[in-house]
Amino acid sequence: MPNKNSHAEHVPQRTCVVCRARKEAGELLSFFVLPQGLVFDPRRRIQRRRNYVCPDPECLVGLDKWKLKYMKRKFGLRGAASFSQAGQK
Ligand SMILES: [Zn+2]
Repeated sequence: MPNKNSHAEHVPQRTCVVCRARKEAGELLSFFVLPQGLVFDPRRRIQRRRNYVCPDPECLVGLDKWKLKYMKRKFGLRGAASFSQAGQK
């Protein structure tokens, strides 16, 4: 079994919060959830716990739902309500 310097070749894998697919971190968009909403951080400069999502339209659409659930869990119903958009089902 060839196993040359596996440490150097290790590519960090991250999981898309919407479809749960595991991909290389570089293939996913990283973001944080703040009380104000989602913040994308393409330069990865902010030291904070990140979440990842595929840059696919389907996952980005699903991200909106995920965000509401996440905010309810993290900030409580009151916080989530103020971020839900009018007309959302
Ligand atoms: Zn995804």
